[in-house]
Amino acid sequence: MKPRPENDIRESFVNALPGGLDRLPIPGLHEMLWEDREFLGWRDPQAPHRGYMVHWMDDRPVGLVVRSSSSSLRPGIAAMCSLCHSPQPATQVRLFTAPKAGEAGLNGDTLGTYICEDLACSLLIRVAPPHLNPPEQIARRSAGLAERVQGFTANVMKTA
Ligand SMILES: [Zn+2]
Repeated sequence: MKPRPENDIRESFVNALPGGLDRLPIPGLHEMLWEDREFLGWRDPQAPHRGYMVHWMDDRPVGLVVRSSSSSLRPGIAAMCSLCHSPQPATQVRLFTAPKAGEAGLNGDTLGTYICEDLACSLLIRVAPPHLNPPEQIARRSAGLAERVQGFTANVMKTA
């Protein structure tokens, strides 16, 4: 991802409901390692079920507002994030729903998928020591993650 000023990010959300972004917390961007982010994901510290995801489509930031379900998966089972495909303990993956863009979202239509609870997929695919996670593997996972985030967003924006 390329560095972006905060204003671009604020204006990038495609599925916010009216009034939904009146108080949008933006994470500190000055220390952001942009080149290591397929998308920027963060939770709202003041609204425990809310999260935000911003990524780049044709050089333009596109943001999604997502909501996590209050029930977690059954602890003890293995789960997988549908975006970064990392196997995770069930307690660290959650069902998130995104209101659809436009009219459909206003009518309550949402799209759901399982995502890492902290929305930090970009960090997760880069952890692990280099011998277990060589650069080629990171590049492959990065490409897959970027593609799936784009796909999810495209579905949220699909109006018909
Ligand atoms: Zn993930």
